[in-house]
Amino acid sequence: MTDFGFREVSPEEKTQLVGRVFSSVADRYDLMNDLMSVGIHRLWKRHFVAGCALRPGQAVLDLAGGTGDIADLVRRRVQPGGKVLVADINRAMLEAGRRRMDDRGRVGGFEWLQVNAESLPFADRSFDHLTIAFGLRNVTDKTAALAEMHRVLKPGGQVHILEFSHVAPEPVAKAYDLWSFQVLPRLGALVAGDRDSYQYLAESIRRFPNQEALAGQLQEAGFERVRYENLSAGIAAIHRGART
Ligand code: SAM
Repeated sequence: MTDFGFREVSPEEKTQLVGRVFSSVADRYDLMNDLMSVGIHRLWKRHFVAGCALRPGQAVLDLAGGTGDIADLVRRRVQPGGKVLVADINRAMLEAGRRRMDDRGRVGGFEWLQVNAESLPFADRSFDHLTIAFGLRNVTDKTAALAEMHRVLKPGGQVHILEFSHVAPEPVAKAYDLWSFQVLPRLGALVAGDRDSYQYLAESIRRFPNQEALAGQLQEAGFERVRYENLSAGIAAIHRGART
């Protein structure tokens, strides 16, 4: 059994339920991110990508890439000559992302691919960097995904994970809980017509390993020089590690 928010479900059911969440919110996903975080997710994402030490010509896999926020930022830094592959299990999210990039006139430099992070259709040692933002929490078998992430990186390649994490200071944690459980589901109902998906979001964050635990899981998967930094008092955190 595994967790889907605060519920215990079978792994197959979790994959199905997560699929339903993102198919349901795909068209309102970007707007909801802006509203829920009052735009702060954009700053986190810029900071995340700025710290990836990307170079022109590099190959980057943006896993669970959804509507392409990270890939769009990565693309500029690996040009000329580089490429970014947006890989996500959910067709509706990929389609929303592709439409969005087409609307902005950003048609080159991306590839969009429907894949499951637990079993990547790429050869060993294919990528210089792998980014995954707000994705790992939604993957059913995180151990398998981390092993795959390690496998497809070139020696010297780096993994970069941006994910919600655990807030330490008590007053911040209380306010954040109030926002997460009282405001987010109502906002989800109002804007995306889907209360339950945003209730799942709040719950899944609480079930996700804290900063130290995730660092330990990265080490177990074989990553070296694992380190993390907190963003906004730990509401989110960035973990990085290297394949040697
Ligand atoms: N990275 C984007 C961002 O930062 O805006 C999207 C993040 S969204 C919260 C999570 C994404 O993870 C969804 O698009 C979902 O389809 C994807 N996802 C969930 N399970 C996955 C899996 N097993 N393999 C690949 N993608 C997965």
